[in-house]
Amino acid sequence: MSRDETIRDPFLEWIEAYALGSLDPEEQTRLAAHLAGGCRDCAKALAEARWVVSQLAYLAPEAQPPGQLRQRLAETVRREAGRERPVSGKPIPFWLWGAVAAAALFALYNLREAQSLRETVRRTEAALDEQLELQKKSAGELALARREAWILSDPKSLKIEMPARQKGVPDLKATWHRALGILISGEKLPVPDGKRTLQLWLIPKAAPARPIPSLTVRPDRNGTLHLLVENPPDGQAGTRALAITEEPEGGSPQPTTPPLWVGALAGT
Ligand SMILES: [Zn+2]
Repeated sequence: MSRDETIRDPFLEWIEAYALGSLDPEEQTRLAAHLAGGCRDCAKALAEARWVVSQLAYLAPEAQPPGQLRQRLAETVRREAGRERPVSGKPIPFWLWGAVAAAALFALYNLREAQSLRETVRRTEAALDEQLELQKKSAGELALARREAWILSDPKSLKIEMPARQKGVPDLKATWHRALGILISGEKLPVPDGKRTLQLWLIPKAAPARPIPSLTVRPDRNGTLHLLVENPPDGQAGTRALAITEEPEGGSPQPTTPPLWVGALAGT
């Protein structure tokens, strides 16, 4: 016989109580240290004991847990209820098992509560994030709206009429603020087919007056066009006119169709 078989690991006696959390602090520390040392027997016993403890919630009065655990449970319950000394050999009354099951259920309930609390916190955080995102977005929209209002109301802004080149197509209005950009709007406009888009061009004063590409935009389904060019590719001083053509999606480096609207800058 080997030494391992003749001398039983004394810590095994404590495993069930450990799983139940009913060891006193000193015993608990010693066993934890022993487990941390890598004892396989104790680790295996602990896994079994934990499984049994996890099953307590389903424990019927007639269920027969392993003798040692049964004894430990009884001790635990007695210790908790009145701090009596355990009386060995005495059969465990049903109410005691009920108390243990209730304690296990209570523990389980607390665990669920904690999980549900965590879930609530997580959801609240998600909702907050969403709210912040919305606020950021509306702050951005508000900033744009202010910018546009400023462009439209500043008397120093340059008003540019952009008459349509085709009959029956409404004219556009452009307003160019030196610092805040160009705002172009129109209503009841024909909507370009499929994936085609409208593109703005700045026609320079200087020869060869090659149009400088700017932003693309599609009128909405009602034919309303709203374009804010925050950073025009050139300034008012160097620009003779604004023009809009219809281009493939994404825009073109140079116009591929005749302009639909052209607006000369006043005084040029
Ligand atoms: Zn051990």
